[in-house]
Amino acid sequence: MSYDPNNVFAKILRGEIPCKRVYEDDFALAFHDINPRAPVHVLVIPKGAYVSMADFTAQAPGELLAGFLRAVGTVARQLGVEESGYRILANTGPNSHQEVPHLHVHIFAGRPLGPMLVERH
Ligand code: AMP
Repeated sequence: MSYDPNNVFAKILRGEIPCKRVYEDDFALAFHDINPRAPVHVLVIPKGAYVSMADFTAQAPGELLAGFLRAVGTVARQLGVEESGYRILANTGPNSHQEVPHLHVHIFAGRPLGPMLVERH
């Protein structure tokens, strides 16, 4: 799948639409999800044109891979949820229900999150 430069997170990265930013460095931007599913629901996106985790892990240079992953950990720490715990999730591809075609890692926290998936096989 080729990268669509007009996806909503690309526009956020270019500053064309606003976000509630919580963290930014050379590799990543983090902001609050517009439709939070938990008391803490933050998205972390890499600074680069990557559709998904599949695309990112295949194509991104090592420095960006490492910087992005480190940013996810830093954001969770700065949100103050490291001790109470958090869940990270990155929907990838059609079966995952990925809606925005720019890699994003969700950070959910702030309450007991229950089992990983709704049980339905
Ligand atoms: P996914 O289903 O994993 O692709 O998740 C996309 C997420 O992006 C959803 O949780 C949306 O609520 C969130 N989202 C969509 N547009 C925006 C926006 N402009 N700012 C913040 N979050 C957004």
